[in-house]
Amino acid sequence: MTDPVRTIRRLLVANRGEIARRIFRTCRALGIETVAVFSDADADLPFVREADVAVRIGPPSPAESYLRAGAILEAAARTAADAIHPGYGFLSENAEFAEACAQAGVTFVGPSPAAIRAMGLKRESKYTAAAAGVPVVPGWSGPEQATDFIAARALEVGFPLLVKASAGGGGKGMRVVERADDLIAAIDGAKREAAAAFGDDTLILERYIQAPRHIEVQVLGDGLGRVVALFERECSIQRRHQKVIEEAPSPFVTPDLRARMCEAAVRVASSIGYANAGTVELIVDPSGEFYFLEMNTRLQVEHPVTEAITGIDLVAEQLRIAEGRGFGFDPEQLAIRGAAIEARLYAEDAAGGFLPAAGHLAAWATRPVDGLRVDSGVEAGDTISIHYDPMIAKVIAHGPDRETARRRLLLALRGSAIVGLTTNLDFLVRVLEHDAFVAGELDTHFIERHRDALVAGPSAERAARAAALAAVVSAALRPSAVDTLPAVRAGFRNAGVATERVVFDAGGAAVSVWVRPRRDGALDVWTAATDALFASPPTDAAHAVFRVVEVAATSASVWLEVDGARGWVRWVEGPDGVCAVIDSAGAVGLRQRPRFAEAGTADAAGGCVAPMPGRVVRVLVVLGDDVVVGTPLVILEAMKMEHTLTAATAGRVVEVRAREGDQVDADAPLVTVEPVES
Ligand code: ADP
Repeated sequence: MTDPVRTIRRLLVANRGEIARRIFRTCRALGIETVAVFSDADADLPFVREADVAVRIGPPSPAESYLRAGAILEAAARTAADAIHPGYGFLSENAEFAEACAQAGVTFVGPSPAAIRAMGLKRESKYTAAAAGVPVVPGWSGPEQATDFIAARALEVGFPLLVKASAGGGGKGMRVVERADDLIAAIDGAKREAAAAFGDDTLILERYIQAPRHIEVQVLGDGLGRVVALFERECSIQRRHQKVIEEAPSPFVTPDLRARMCEAAVRVASSIGYANAGTVELIVDPSGEFYFLEMNTRLQVEHPVTEAITGIDLVAEQLRIAEGRGFGFDPEQLAIRGAAIEARLYAEDAAGGFLPAAGHLAAWATRPVDGLRVDSGVEAGDTISIHYDPMIAKVIAHGPDRETARRRLLLALRGSAIVGLTTNLDFLVRVLEHDAFVAGELDTHFIERHRDALVAGPSAERAARAAALAAVVSAALRPSAVDTLPAVRAGFRNAGVATERVVFDAGGAAVSVWVRPRRDGALDVWTAATDALFASPPTDAAHAVFRVVEVAATSASVWLEVDGARGWVRWVEGPDGVCAVIDSAGAVGLRQRPRFAEAGTADAAGGCVAPMPGRVVRVLVVLGDDVVVGTPLVILEAMKMEHTLTAATAGRVVEVRAREGDQVDADAPLVTVEPVES
């Protein structure tokens, strides 16, 4: 139990990224000063700059930085911080750290070391829950740990079963076993993984619940003897046993079930005199039977959905409770207002097994939507480091009901694009659009079951349309085009009546686009699924008429008419030709192939033609020269860049039309090379 009021004046957050920022936000609202600690990898991230004071604690690896209790306490002492919030992960469930804080006279914002310990290991926490009269998943969790002994117990539990690391977290050290033949390998594998990840290879066995839901209850203990439940969150949308989409309330939970779950969670927490924020995780079978899974003695990643539906700032409550001031709300007034859904945006490759894909976040467009909250640790220009969880942001939508929250979140994500990184953005959109999600038909196998539909790339039509939009919108936004507004088609005027051609990689396939201005100011646009950039579109190319109505250069968007229908199209650009277009149907990521390298060699009898309008800077050959494939022929300046046009075939230069300083149109023949017989 917490001592009498101990005012927090200056709070150190022993964490990084989005959760550090999120805690700082509440501190600013409460008038509390903030201290950040950071590793070398994070020195330039927003959370470091947003703190009042920031202290470097070590190299990037967590073991040398965010897990160094001593360095963090030293930083607290140096900056005169009187409290430490551990966030989630890292030291948040480390009882020794909580103890060390107390010894150093610093308030630990969280439960007591004893409560952390009671729930630290799955095996012990199951005893605690069972003792409190809360059902636990049937299985075995004894002290004897010999492989053969565990295997014998497994046969008694029956199949399928789950082998779990007692010290586990983040889905590590967990193995589903379907039949006896696989037992020994699974037990040994789980032991090895657990020993490596947690330094503790104790295992437990649980019956593997079929098609379960993961539903958890948020609890808050006021530190004065009272524990309340702030309702449930459903977190059944998981990959690798880890959550990606969470919501509150659960579409599955009836008022009666809710009352029983909340009562069970409060019973477990009360039995260990729990203070501060915690979460009791339950696994729920399709009949509504629920079992205690574990208790997390910290703030959860997905806490914002609870904040949305209760109107309670959980971090503010954590700080009040840590100060010994109890709840800032009246528990009798607790009620669910509407529904909220959170999607975790990760730098990961959904199609490639959800592997992390760290890297540089070059550009990021978001769409403002009512009832939306975005908690992020990074901004455009920042790097998602390989050293930590590759989460980019949590996007949370709240609405009067689940369907409104879902639509708002979908609108926000469809209107967003990230360039420079592989992300799960499209995947999240597809989950939110899925009929089963709409219907609330969730269980922890949702992603596996619907995998093909969820990781599919854009259709060929969609990719082609996106490439066409990209060609037109990027051209309309070129400085030369924008400068001469309102004559926005000036972007194409240089080209005279010539056709602009460009190739994009879209959804793993090449799409070529041809854009030709029409007399009426509109544009004829053709697309074809090819990377062969013919001078004219092939006869089977798809055709549409585009009209640039208005250009908003400041927001990188174009009000565009396509075959009679108008809409805004946004343009997001990164380095090396990577880009994205966003229209009402969503975002598509693309990569523009280097504009002219291939084109310069593609036409004109082995010589070169101007791939686009430009100025001849140098002519590098004279009549009669012998050239080989790749010999530079002409340097052309176009769009403020120089392009070297090279010979496509070996032979002799038989004609040189280009003259230095000439202004040439697209497709103008510059040098002709005739193959020579050897
Ligand atoms: P960790 O602490 O590693 O996250 P948990 O015990 O919280 O492990 O379980 C993580 C996820 O694994 C759950 O949300 C659920 O999807 C699945 N899971 C855990 N236990 C069971 C079980 N007995 N039956 C079926 N699925 C389970």
